[in-house]
Amino acid sequence: MSLLIVGSIALDTVKTPVEEHSDLLGGSASYAAAAASYFSPVKLVGVVGSDFPKSEFDFWKSRKIDTAGVQQVEGKTFRWSGEYAWDMNTRETRSTELNVFEKFEPELPPAYRETDFALLANIAPALQMNVLKQIQRPRFVVADTMNLWIETTRKDLDALLPNVDLLILNDSEAREMVKETSLIKAGRRIRESGPRYVAIKKGEHGALLFGEDEFFSCGAYPLEDIHDPTGAGDTFAGGMAGYLASTVRKVTFTDLRKAMIYGSVLASFCVEAFSLDRLRNLTMEQINERYETFKLMSQFEGAE
Ligand code: AMP
Repeated sequence: MSLLIVGSIALDTVKTPVEEHSDLLGGSASYAAAAASYFSPVKLVGVVGSDFPKSEFDFWKSRKIDTAGVQQVEGKTFRWSGEYAWDMNTRETRSTELNVFEKFEPELPPAYRETDFALLANIAPALQMNVLKQIQRPRFVVADTMNLWIETTRKDLDALLPNVDLLILNDSEAREMVKETSLIKAGRRIRESGPRYVAIKKGEHGALLFGEDEFFSCGAYPLEDIHDPTGAGDTFAGGMAGYLASTVRKVTFTDLRKAMIYGSVLASFCVEAFSLDRLRNLTMEQINERYETFKLMSQFEGAE
């Protein structure tokens, strides 16, 4: 099964306490597509400017990511710049330049319109809805969001939620969305607003998954060296959606649990290098090896 992914495609500048790099490939769709491509063929939707390097199209091609839905137009690519504190968790956005995204009107190529799985990666909810409306009867829709949209385009986000099967957001966003301090209550309340499932990411503390009568909690893969946390959330979403799209039957809660572990594994690789660099040469063997270690670490004596 193929997976349609729409989101931002960016050129990022990232500063950590020890390094700074600019003009890096970034954006929610770039990270998500690279992660998902380990499990399913990806159809990418987005926009880039005339300054966007051709080599990145070659990279997508090498990962079997279809770019027929990526428009290249006159102007500058979306640019984002962020700086991390010593904890490599707290981040300050230094600048966001929408550039070609300001006038972006997605139009799906005919071959994209019958996609079964869709990942609406982080981007304005009105654009997520626009793309969703162009897909015929999607089987399973995953959406990601961020505090910006909760604060500035809440109506659009609320309209999108009933069309979403799995909503992914981080802990502070979940609390902010329903004004709730308890994450357990927040997860349940967000579910009631539309999505069938809700995944709440807790950074280095793992993630929670909520279904109607089901609940799953997993830790994060313990890493010693983090070089650039940018895109971890998008990579998590891409890994989850990519794994789900590789399942042939109706998505079950067991599939969602496995997808969450794969998402966490992919995110753990992502932060080991700047930009998408670690995802450029990662192998499926390395992913599966870490998946097995993750499973072993989650067991305890006496568990069946
Ligand atoms: P994450 O670290 O998962 O929050 O994702 C970081 C990526 O999101 C960067 O590569 C940015 O280019 C991209 N990004 C930052 N702000 C936005 C925004 N407002 N809309 C879409 N993508 C964004």
